[in-house]
Amino acid sequence: MTSGFDEFRLGQQFGLTGDQVQLCSHASDYFEATLHPLQQRMDDEDWWPAETFREVAAMGYLGTTVPAEYGGQGLDYLSAGLICEVMAYWNPSFAFSWLNADNLVIDNLYRNGNEEQRRRFLPRLCTGEIIGALGMTEPGAGSDALGSMKTSARRDGNHYVVNGSKIFITNGPIADIVLTYVRTDATQGRSKGISALLVEKEFEGFRVAQKLDKMGFRGSPLGELVFDGCRVPEGNRLGEENRGHVIMHSGLDLERVMSAMLCIGPARRALDLAIEHAKLRVQFDQPIASFQMIQAKLAEMYIALEAARTLVYRVLDACNSTQKSELGRGHIHRLAAAALYQAAQTGTFVMNEAVQIHGGSGYMRDTEVNRLYRTTKVMEIAAGSQEIRRLIIAGNLLRD
Ligand SMILES: Cc1cc2nc3c(=O)[nH]c(=O)nc-3n(C[C@H](O)[C@H](O)[C@H](O)COP(=O)(O)OP(=O)(O)OC[C@H]3O[C@@H](n4cnc5c(N)ncnc54)[C@H](O)[C@@H]3O)c2cc1C
Repeated sequence: MTSGFDEFRLGQQFGLTGDQVQLCSHASDYFEATLHPLQQRMDDEDWWPAETFREVAAMGYLGTTVPAEYGGQGLDYLSAGLICEVMAYWNPSFAFSWLNADNLVIDNLYRNGNEEQRRRFLPRLCTGEIIGALGMTEPGAGSDALGSMKTSARRDGNHYVVNGSKIFITNGPIADIVLTYVRTDATQGRSKGISALLVEKEFEGFRVAQKLDKMGFRGSPLGELVFDGCRVPEGNRLGEENRGHVIMHSGLDLERVMSAMLCIGPARRALDLAIEHAKLRVQFDQPIASFQMIQAKLAEMYIALEAARTLVYRVLDACNSTQKSELGRGHIHRLAAAALYQAAQTGTFVMNEAVQIHGGSGYMRDTEVNRLYRTTKVMEIAAGSQEIRRLIIAGNLLRD
C-alpha cells in the first residue's frame, strides 16, 4: 500500500521545504506506530487515550504554532497543518481532539492572551498536562452562534458571573480549561457585546452536564457544559471586554483551514485502502481493479483529493503571511471558508466511493473504511456548515 510517507515525497511538488517533508516523514512513522493501533478501541468504546495525548506532546507535536519560550514548537501554520494531515491519516479521532486543543485553544490563547495569561496557561497546555476546549455553540445558537448567544456574564466586583450552557463541545468532558464565549453587553446588538473567558474546570458553578454519543470521530469526547452562576476572575478574560467577536471570527478562519486537514488526511487514507482492496478483491476471475469503472472511481477520487489538498496547502501558507488584524475578514476569510468547503465536499465524495469499492465489507461497522465514512460527515457541519461557508464567501465577494 502507498504509505503516508511516500505520499509526502510528492509533497515537494507543493513547494514544501525539506524540513516540512522530514517533519511529515517522522510524524507519519510515529503516528502509525502509536496512534493507528488505538483507533479500533477508540471507536468501539468511545475511549479517549489521555496518556497517549501527553506522549504525543512530549514528542513535540503540541503547541505547534506557539514559540518555544512558552513551551511550544514555533512552527508555521502550514507545518502545523501537515502534522494534522498525517495524524488524521492514521487516527482521525485523535487528530480531532488534538486540533481542538492545539489550534482552537493553544494558538488562540497565544494570539489573544496577555503576557501573564500566556505564562500561566501555555506551558502546561503545551505538555498536555492540561487540555483545552472551545465553547461557542449553544442549544439555541448554532449557525447563528453570535446573534443567538444566550450564555451571559455579568460583572460582580473583579469577577464575572456566567449563566448558560454550551453544546457539542469537543474535549468538553475532559477539558481543564474552556475558552468560552459569553454575552457581556446585551445592548450592543445581536453580534456584538461578546467576551471570551477562560473557564477552569474547578470554578464553582461549572459542570459537564453530559457526554454525547456520536456516529464518527468516536473516542474524541464531546459534551454539554453548564454554567450555573459560575464565577470567573476578570484576569481570565481573553482580550478586551465586548470584543470577543473579533477573537471568534479570527479564530474561526484558522480553525477552518486547519480543520480542512481533518478531511484531507482521512480521505487520503480511504483512497489508499480502496486501492489496496481493488487490487486484492477478485470477481469474475480478476481483481476488481482491472474493471475500468473501478479505475475511473480511483482516478476521480485522486483528482478531487489533490485539487482540494492543493487549495488547503495554499491557504495554510497564506495564513503564515496574514497579519492578526486581517483574520476574520478580507481575502483570508473567504479563502479559509473555501478551503474547508472544498475539503469537506471532497472528503464526503472520496469516502462514499471508497465504501462503494469495498462493497458489502465496507458497510461493516468494524472496518477502517466504514469508520472513516462515519467520521467525515461532520466536516460538512461543524465550524460553520457548507451552507454558512458559501454565505461567507459570497458575502465577502460581494463586499469587495
Ligand atoms: C462532532 C461535533 C463537534 C463539534 N465541536 C464543537 C466545539 O468544539 N465547539 C463549539 O462551539 N461547537 C462545536 N460543534 C458545533 C458545530 O459548530 C455546530 O453544530 C454547527 O455550527 C452547526 O450548528 P447547529 O448544529 O446548531 O445547526 P443549525 O445552525 O441548526 O443548522 C441546521 C441546518 O440549517 C442550515 N442553515 C442554518 N442557517 C442557514 C442559513 N442562513 N442559510 C442556509 N442554511 C442555513 C445549516 O447549514 C444546517 O444544514 C460541534 C459539532 C459537532 C457535531
